[in-house]
Amino acid sequence: MPFSGILGQDGSITVLRRSLAVGKVAHAYLFDGVEGCGKKKTALAFIEAVFCGKEEGCGSCPSCRKIAALQHPDLHLIEPDGAFIKIDQIRELQRELAYRPFEAPIKACIIDAADRLNPAAGNALLKTLEEPPGSALMILLTANTGSVLPTILSRCQSLHFPALSETTIEEYLRRNGSEPEAARIAASLAGGSLKKALETDNETALTERKTFLARLSSFSLREIAPLFTAAEELAADKEKALEMLELVTAFMRDILLLQRGSREVVNSDLLPLLEREAVRCSPERVMERIQQVFAARQALLRNVNPRLALEVLFMRLAEQ
Ligand SMILES: [Zn+2]
Repeated sequence: MPFSGILGQDGSITVLRRSLAVGKVAHAYLFDGVEGCGKKKTALAFIEAVFCGKEEGCGSCPSCRKIAALQHPDLHLIEPDGAFIKIDQIRELQRELAYRPFEAPIKACIIDAADRLNPAAGNALLKTLEEPPGSALMILLTANTGSVLPTILSRCQSLHFPALSETTIEEYLRRNGSEPEAARIAASLAGGSLKKALETDNETALTERKTFLARLSSFSLREIAPLFTAAEELAADKEKALEMLELVTAFMRDILLLQRGSREVVNSDLLPLLEREAVRCSPERVMERIQQVFAARQALLRNVNPRLALEVLFMRLAEQ
């Protein structure tokens, strides 16, 4: 994909284009920004340009096509194997980088989730960054710069990728055939990630969200079995649970907006439910609930027993 096909990352792309134009490509970069904001696409576009020997990949030559398909023999992609990137993966990469390139002018690699290198792998990678083999181009990606080893950070040229604006995402979804309301909701819930917006912007995800929020609003302390069942179901998938908690926060914020007389809510397709809640709860109570959701989120991130954390949350949300 050429640079022009990448959404909302003009700042970083300008820097990369300039380095291509003056022939000063660094040997290691670190792209940081939220998941799904275009880091990997930009890395691939940059490698296309470097391999193609131009300021922009042509997108159609065999080299560009192989990169786009992640099938180029001189491009190596490293991703966590399970929770971490392990030392064997880095050793394998080091062996690959030591060979001469097969087709391209240099070897290139993308290390996705560089914050998840385990300590041994991180130290091994550090050696490669200190003494790069040949003229390899290494691009590290992370949504979590704070967790990247500082010694690794200091050896890379850092480029920050801002979260995409809601308008940018909404316009993109609408251009690609989404219904206006679905596009707006998906963009508001995406947290700057096009990837997340694309996952949310479909009938199944929107229905699932509606069902979940309606179910949550029906919880009552008079009948706690459904509340425990919901906690058990959701606790089985932590990522999903965290996503659902974000939905609940957006829902609570909408209630506050209605209480303040604004109609600019995210969940416009749930207006009757929101209105009911806005009448039923005081703004103070809604604020408390937002804090309770935040506390549950922190508990999940700290790996506290997820089922227990969700049970506690649902019981608190059910209190009148
Ligand atoms: Zn090309």
